[in-house]
Amino acid sequence: MSHGSATLIDGVAVAKAVRDDLQREVAELAERGIVPGLTVVLVGDDPASAVYVRSKEKTSKELGMKGETVRLPADTPQAELEALIDRLNADPTVHGILVQSPLPKHMDENTIVRRIDPAKDVDGFHPVNVGKLLIGEKDGFAPCTPAGVQELLVRYGVDTSGKDAVIIGRSNIVGKPMAALLVQQGAGANCTVTICHSRTKDLAAHTRRADIVIAAIGKPEVITGDMLRPGAVVIDVGINRVNDASAPKGYRLVGDVHFESASAVASHITPVPGGVGPMTIAMLLKNTVRAARQAGK
Ligand code: NDP
Repeated sequence: MSHGSATLIDGVAVAKAVRDDLQREVAELAERGIVPGLTVVLVGDDPASAVYVRSKEKTSKELGMKGETVRLPADTPQAELEALIDRLNADPTVHGILVQSPLPKHMDENTIVRRIDPAKDVDGFHPVNVGKLLIGEKDGFAPCTPAGVQELLVRYGVDTSGKDAVIIGRSNIVGKPMAALLVQQGAGANCTVTICHSRTKDLAAHTRRADIVIAAIGKPEVITGDMLRPGAVVIDVGINRVNDASAPKGYRLVGDVHFESASAVASHITPVPGGVGPMTIAMLLKNTVRAARQAGK
């Protein structure tokens, strides 16, 4: 499929292909008596988090995995959450543990993330996994959103080797792990990586020489077509709501990239929604299946 001159990267289709592969893998593991188990912990009643959590549980069950959600009230003491994590760490039927962010204000997210056994940290936020990602040790877990971006590049046959990749955004969830993935040796990597952020002097000068642009800014339509080199591969991680009186909900979702102008010059581009977004849960389940395989029980 193409838009303007660009090939549209279909994250819905790739996420389904990843899930189909996982379904086969889960069936194989079942023959060895292994059922990959993912437990999601939701503290409080943030409505957006509730939607994500339901979707994670539902998708894991569809693949034949054990998907469980533990819901705790917003005023749960931190020690109680820590005790729950200790129990999940010790439970051999639980291979992946995810504590849904954001946590209530009285909790310290850093302490909670460090409490999770790194071998079960399928979100890839434990410092041990962050370190393994940087070192290039394959038995760790990479954060799901940047891992999903890499999967899109690989499955669309984008040649990344030796290419200039410019990432805009330096968060620990997207920008930094994205850089760590692309700089490694291997498929969908071997890039020369630049990370830009709000203090970058001349953003357009960087994006204009990039073969691959990955926008993880969290602001609507910052990257426009005139900031891109013709033929660039453009990956838009951003999900932003903008007011739109003509839309049924009064808003619509746009990315960090101005789609219309960018798709006129890019060779490949991800839409928002339907690009990177659907990949995140697929990669979470992929991490969980590998966690189960590595645990071997
Ligand atoms: P953060 O807000 O944590 O990080 C944004 C980064 O963008 C920061 O490093 C910031 O710089 C930089 N930045 C902000 N404004 C500019 C600018 N004008 N020029 C250059 N750099 C700028 O966001 P996240 O990384 O968590 O998320 C980024 C986007 O991706 C959001 O839209 C989010 O909704 C989306 N997202 C989507 C996911 C999915 O599809 N499943 C998952 C996670 C995120 P500085 O560090 O200097 O402040």
